[in-house]
Amino acid sequence: MNAIVLKFGGASLSTPKKMLKVADIIIERKKELKNIVVIVSAMGDTTDKLLKLARKIHTDPPKREQDMLISVGERISMSLLSMALQKKGINSISFTGSQSGIITCDNHFDAKIIDVKPFRIIDELKNNKIVIVAGFQGISQKKEITTLGRGGSDTSAVAIASAIEAESVDFYKDVMGIYNKDPKENKDAVFFNKLNYDESLKIITSSKHFLLHPRALELAKQNNIKLIIRSFKKNAKKFTSIENDAFKKDGKIVYEKV
Ligand code: ASP
Ligand code: MG
Repeated sequence: MNAIVLKFGGASLSTPKKMLKVADIIIERKKELKNIVVIVSAMGDTTDKLLKLARKIHTDPPKREQDMLISVGERISMSLLSMALQKKGINSISFTGSQSGIITCDNHFDAKIIDVKPFRIIDELKNNKIVIVAGFQGISQKKEITTLGRGGSDTSAVAIASAIEAESVDFYKDVMGIYNKDPKENKDAVFFNKLNYDESLKIITSSKHFLLHPRALELAKQNNIKLIIRSFKKNAKKFTSIENDAFKKDGKIVYEKV
């Protein structure tokens, strides 16, 4: 499908004001693109707060109930962002992971995506709506709500992009892209305009904080999904694109190994 996936992390959605700014970014992109799916993380440190809250009730929270609780974080983001877009006069609809057709294994709090059936997403794109999807979550074949492990919404974004055969996933971050070392701590950090999957995986896994979840990179490599890392801040002139040196695609979509 001629579509693009945009992924916004928790830092870019941490306040209502920032949420409205993200809506403006999406509206700007909509001018050049017909079909947009947006994947969101939970606002700021919502997931940490929910995990702490659970521990106030139970020192070792049952994983099923914990997933029911923490999947709410992304649900808050998706609904508020869709409201923000509608306030600005743009047609949009929010979906949970299960409504989006993200099927996972049964492993609560570390579920792998085994299939995606994106019927509702495709229907609503055809209705000219921007579709907002809650990252980090899915549904098992037993119809249990699952979460994908910390930082899992990057993986949600690539899985959805694979399923709808989107052109690329744009990850909006608080840096312009990938550097050889953390640009916030190192003035001499070198910026990369373009990397292949293996090069970016090496850089990302060698740093303290993953700029992008390695599982998302792995999935993108398998399905040849181009990734763009760019800043959500205004006036950013550069971005990093991650793609294969030689493009090959045999048409079969591959999801994660359990
Ligand atoms: N909200 C989840 C987390 O903080 C998922 C994500 O941000 O990707 O781990
Ligand atoms: Mg988060």
